[in-house]
Amino acid sequence: MGQRLIGAIEAGGTKFIAAIATEDGTILDRARIPTLTPDECFPQVAAFFDAAAAAHGPIAGFGVASFGPIDIDPTSSTYGTFTTTPKPGWSGARFHDVLGRFGAPIVVETDVNGAALGEWQSGAGKGCTTVAYTTVGTGIGSGVVRAGKPLMGFSHYESGHIPLPHDPTADPFAGHCPYHGDCLEGLASGPAIAARWGCSLSDLGDPAAIDLIASYLAVLAANLVLLHMPDRLIFGGGVMKSPGLIPALRRATEARLAGYVKAPQIDPGLERYIVAPALGDDAGITGAIALGRRALG
Ligand code: ZN
Repeated sequence: MGQRLIGAIEAGGTKFIAAIATEDGTILDRARIPTLTPDECFPQVAAFFDAAAAAHGPIAGFGVASFGPIDIDPTSSTYGTFTTTPKPGWSGARFHDVLGRFGAPIVVETDVNGAALGEWQSGAGKGCTTVAYTTVGTGIGSGVVRAGKPLMGFSHYESGHIPLPHDPTADPFAGHCPYHGDCLEGLASGPAIAARWGCSLSDLGDPAAIDLIASYLAVLAANLVLLHMPDRLIFGGGVMKSPGLIPALRRATEARLAGYVKAPQIDPGLERYIVAPALGDDAGITGAIALGRRALG
């Protein structure tokens, strides 16, 4: 007997990846759809899944890993709805509006929770019980997965906005966050780096700048350890591709932890503990398929 079919969406700020896959994760078909506005994007998403269902069979469950902020509380009446996103047209848009017509259960998570789940299942977090995945790019966010379940409180975590020790003599940049100024995202995200230095960290190629950004990210890394005790920390996103940043983050995190947390997971030098993602560009859609598998029950 054939496997049940999963519909998956990786919803990013510039593009959606929609895919139909079997339960074992084999992708049968996929499409790239510009995010634009919901009025432009959602009909193309519906058309893709209509055609996919006609070609392969009925879709039994949907998994969505999306940009946010978005309501990911399954008990909420607005589950799957974008909340305060500044992206024009998306505030109030709901994934159920486009996927509800297929009559299948829908699981919606944040993009970082989806990527965390994908990496836990078949990437750099394979074999771990608890994994924290952090993206450092246009924004900064962390997803924590324990035994295949993304954690949350009344909403998803906002690790990008933690306050930091900020020494204005070492780093006179005031910060880029419209809410907090010099929170983590305000000091270390891609746009903050571009505003401070006029280029990306990779293009700057300055070891002192690498160490400065690493020192900020190490505050988050240490807090992830202290709050969640993950078996591994995965750091991805465009900024993390800067040469030397992951080694600098390992050094800064180890210094900040100061030997307080002793566990076999936390190796000297943190080379096994702090790692890059293994799935690359497929982390998001892999996670969305994993969410779709949860939708199947
Ligand atoms: Zn902030």
